[in-house]
Amino acid sequence: MAQLCGVFGVIGSSQAAAELYIALTHQQHRGQDAAGIATSDSQGKLNVLKSRGLAIEIFSEENIANLDGGMGICHNRYPTAGYGDVKECQPFFLDKEGIGIAFNGNIINYPYMKKQLEAAGREFESSSDGELLLYIFQEGYANGGFFEAVRNVHEKLIGGYSVVGIIAGEGIFAFKDPNGIRPLLMGKRGTAYAFASESIALSIEGYNDIQDLKPGEAAFIRKDMEAERRVVTAGEPRPCAFEFVYFSTVESKLEGIPVYQARSRLGQALARKAREKWPELEIDVVIPVPDTSRPAANALAKELGKPYEEGLVKNRYIGRTFIMPTQRIRENALKLKLKPIESVIKGKKVMVVDDSIVRGTTSKRIIRLIRDFGAEKVYLLSTFPPIRNPCLYGIDFTSEKELIAHGKTIKEVEQHVGADRLIYMSPEDLKECIGLKSLCMACITGEYPTPTGHAKEMQTQRQEDYAKIK
Ligand code: SF4
Repeated sequence: MAQLCGVFGVIGSSQAAAELYIALTHQQHRGQDAAGIATSDSQGKLNVLKSRGLAIEIFSEENIANLDGGMGICHNRYPTAGYGDVKECQPFFLDKEGIGIAFNGNIINYPYMKKQLEAAGREFESSSDGELLLYIFQEGYANGGFFEAVRNVHEKLIGGYSVVGIIAGEGIFAFKDPNGIRPLLMGKRGTAYAFASESIALSIEGYNDIQDLKPGEAAFIRKDMEAERRVVTAGEPRPCAFEFVYFSTVESKLEGIPVYQARSRLGQALARKAREKWPELEIDVVIPVPDTSRPAANALAKELGKPYEEGLVKNRYIGRTFIMPTQRIRENALKLKLKPIESVIKGKKVMVVDDSIVRGTTSKRIIRLIRDFGAEKVYLLSTFPPIRNPCLYGIDFTSEKELIAHGKTIKEVEQHVGADRLIYMSPEDLKECIGLKSLCMACITGEYPTPTGHAKEMQTQRQEDYAKIK
């Protein structure tokens, strides 16, 4: 249902489909289950190709050549429902109306709104909230054009979402939810415009003047390259803190802040906390859990004056375990994912830095591996504070039951994962290190930026969806 994803849109490119394919590869870390491209020429014909799998497995020179037109959108998907069906893959589109969308986020009142639309006669083909968003957008578009369509979405759908879309033959568009929870940026290259979930997908393609869309902002770029932007519904800015720590790639900038720098600052802050609160800790070596926590581990080691080493090697031929859709697949994947370097850890007191601890499965396994390979002590440091509340905005922990820190003290989590010492980032330091005054940190604090009245219904639906794919 929810979609933890990467989206991209382009207009004015001489090779739109090829550019969209490259964007899929640069945002592949945001979802590895499915990918899709929709393009259109100025005559208004919509061409769509989407399927399960990695972009590299789906697209070829031949099928990209069939995706005509100078405008288009694409989508990398992580699924939480309808796992095996191509109908669940994005972009979603309405052929007759020529409207397509690619969606990243989660609609909290999805089950409620879906029932409302079904009662009014609308038939749904998928179990994705992206399809619901498409219908709500189309309803508003038919009544008053693009900005009315976005207003209709903002008014009726509660959640965190970033959307890129296409109106065949007319132009491409993008918009954020009123709190700007999920990332979305815009860039310009000559006369071409593009939108992306991450800045690196724009900068690597030569786009300049890259800006984050504001919370509640919508932009429409017409086929004559006229750009119109407007804040449709202004809410308090609440970009997701977890994007900075884990989800976005380290080459990107979010809200003008380089992710790499934020992660380095997190490492320094953790080092200061460890030194002040546990000065007795003896440390021989600092190692990162690759790849996300490298900048933090490196900065932490420098701050503590301890050696930084690579003690775990990632198997490059297996996907990120966190975004694998079921616990069973995740656990199997863990066995293949990381390999320790014995010469770095044997007989040593090892400080392991990880970006976050969600379910505890990975941490427990890593600590056991490091001990099995001869470490004398294992200290675990997390650059994200304890996650005690579900994410209602698209990151894949929608139920508190799956969170290892829910209802537990830090000492209890420490015992569960088997660390000699567990040190978490504090919420205050997290905010300071990221450098934004206002963030979504609901999974840490339980303070959600939107109404949560429909959350239980959505969580139940999600559990049922999971049960189907387990
Ligand atoms: S609840 Fe946590 S993971 Fe979800 S959007 Fe907010 S900060 Fe991000």
